[in-house]
Amino acid sequence: MNTHVEKDECISCGVCPSLCPEVFEFDDDGLAMAKIEEVPEELEDLVQEAAESCPTSAIVVN
Ligand code: SF4
Repeated sequence: MNTHVEKDECISCGVCPSLCPEVFEFDDDGLAMAKIEEVPEELEDLVQEAAESCPTSAIVVN
């Protein structure tokens, strides 16, 4: 699984870094980013949950 954040869509709500800090963090601009774009298998469920929980659907998984 790969993931990234469409920064244009992020509203800095904090859900994704709270749910999965191993993958998501706030960048210097205050918007979320994926620090690991190639998601380890053990984190896939959390990343999926973060994507589904993002209020603006800014997290892309594929
Ligand atoms: S859950 Fe979505 S809107 Fe909230 S910080 Fe993460 S990417 Fe941004």
